[in-house]
Amino acid sequence: MIADPVSHSTEELFREDAHLTECAARVVAVDERGVRLDRTVFYPQGGGQAGDAGELVCADGTRIAIADTRKGEAPGEILHVPAPGQAEALAGLRPGDAVGARIDWERRHRHMRFHTATHLLCALVPHPVNGCSITAGYARLDFHMNEPLEKEALTAGIARFVGAAHPVRHRWISEAELDANPGLVRSMSVQPPRGLGRVRVLEIDGVDLQPCGGTHVANTREIGAVVVTKIEKKAALTRRVVLGFAERSPLR
Ligand SMILES: [Zn+2]
Repeated sequence: MIADPVSHSTEELFREDAHLTECAARVVAVDERGVRLDRTVFYPQGGGQAGDAGELVCADGTRIAIADTRKGEAPGEILHVPAPGQAEALAGLRPGDAVGARIDWERRHRHMRFHTATHLLCALVPHPVNGCSITAGYARLDFHMNEPLEKEALTAGIARFVGAAHPVRHRWISEAELDANPGLVRSMSVQPPRGLGRVRVLEIDGVDLQPCGGTHVANTREIGAVVVTKIEKKAALTRRVVLGFAERSPLR
């Protein structure tokens, strides 16, 4: 009898619907690195975007707090990293167990709002990106350029796109299509994943189109009030733009 090949890949529900906050799943494996599930709504750290936090809820109601989500060593492997102090709950978890996987939505929605806002910045600053970090508290984007940038002008530019309520959607294109349009790759530091035959692109209708595997809002209006909090000259050819959420909506 031939055993089924072991698949490490987790079904990535967040790639098709970034607004899914929970799903039912089965445990594939539990070890010191984390919990692997057959499917998940948890986004693993990548492409500059922080990994999700949240909880796994077992059939008996036991809750396992998840502090972070990372990619594993095998392609497509996603590790739900438990918060400290979860050893007892984890000990009761077995492969095949049914669990509910629920993300910290408030935190993730901030990642989504910031991530889409960084793509708006790409549309405003026509230079290659050589670094990116998206967290719940701030987002920063490094541009390969030496011209000065102006804080107020960029904040106003983002607000204009947010106010214009552009639809945001993803689609998949073939690697051949990507190769035929090298201008689609805006980021010098993050190349789209290769070898899967297809690449996910994120389109902000009429504003920006680029390969991206991250989670995004459905419409630029959903970003809300985002401001440029800082512009730094990090190196001779690097300008860093830092984004934050406005404490209070300017419309109020
Ligand atoms: Zn992106």
